[in-house]
Amino acid sequence: MKYLEEFRDAKGVQGLLAEIRRLVTRPWNLMEVCGGQTHSIIRNGIDQLLPQEIRLIHGPGCPVCVTPLVAIDKALAIASLPNVTFCSFGDMLRVPGSDKDLFRVKSEGGDIRIVYSPLDALKIAQENPERQVVFFAIGFETTAPANAMAVDLAKKRGIKNFSVLVSHVLVPPAIAAIMSSPVNRVQAFLAAGHVCSVMGFWEYPPLAERFHVPIVITGFEPLDVLAGILAAVRQLENGEARVENAYSRVVNFEGNLPAQALLKQVFTIEDRAWRGIGNIPQSGWKLSPAYREYDAETRFSVGEIHTVESPLCHSGEVLQGVIQPTECPAFGRQCTPRTPLGATMVSSEGACAAYYNYGRFAPVSITTAEEPACAT
Ligand code: SF4
Repeated sequence: MKYLEEFRDAKGVQGLLAEIRRLVTRPWNLMEVCGGQTHSIIRNGIDQLLPQEIRLIHGPGCPVCVTPLVAIDKALAIASLPNVTFCSFGDMLRVPGSDKDLFRVKSEGGDIRIVYSPLDALKIAQENPERQVVFFAIGFETTAPANAMAVDLAKKRGIKNFSVLVSHVLVPPAIAAIMSSPVNRVQAFLAAGHVCSVMGFWEYPPLAERFHVPIVITGFEPLDVLAGILAAVRQLENGEARVENAYSRVVNFEGNLPAQALLKQVFTIEDRAWRGIGNIPQSGWKLSPAYREYDAETRFSVGEIHTVESPLCHSGEVLQGVIQPTECPAFGRQCTPRTPLGATMVSSEGACAAYYNYGRFAPVSITTAEEPACAT
């Protein structure tokens, strides 16, 4: 079975669009939770193909974007310490902290390595026992199992010079927070398929019931996204609010049970601040007491952190779907991928980057010589 081409089929797209047009009788606001879905929507022009009654709101599902500023500043402080090798996925290096980013620390002599897996960082620790090796463990339920495995392996192998700076966030509490907001406009969710491939979707029925909101598990290819939108619109038009799986080739109800067991063993749930959004109760993971010795925040004293956000950046409103990226006054002016003011412009999954990279410049009248009016 093919997993990509058949989910990009133009005829299939036209068929789903026709069905959505046939069903829609009034305006609906749908939020795609995941930044990967946002990029698929903007890259493929799905938002422009939909009937005008369907408004897609981009959600807080970009792991880089929601990593709180205090975590970035702690990363900068730890990475600046002598004898520390700081390992991170590449897209975290350009995320602005209060006064610099990890690239700046690297240019100042910090030993910062881009890795593709926490296991790469663990290997660096094993090969360099004289150095403290720290991995920046960010992301949703999708990346957490590999980070849990790295910590568990370090403990089993007795590796003492490895630790993780944990900033993991969880999707279901974010859905509850969005629905509880007084400025909420979301009427249905397209849930992130890769998160559900790990966690299943057993956490969602109570949310759908509590907030009377349809939640459709959705994939990332054009047909996946449109199938999710069609399922959500059908429920909305029928007055239904239940959980539906439109990504059954990858996701089942239970999810990956061994991965969930490892997460439960290594992490405990805590309140967590989300960048641009604020504190969301019970929305993050930290290392459980049995693994606390591998917590970089315990191992290194980084002192008092005073965070300073750019006053120009509206990424919190973008992440909550209150404004579109192009409605930010700095979009394409002071803020571009080369001069990002916020993480939503830095991250490969960020909504501001999606609009910039795929040329949604219409509301912006001023561009500079360095920054093309259209990225295409
Ligand atoms: S365009 Fe830039 S300044 Fe505006 S919200 Fe996005 S990241 Fe922040």
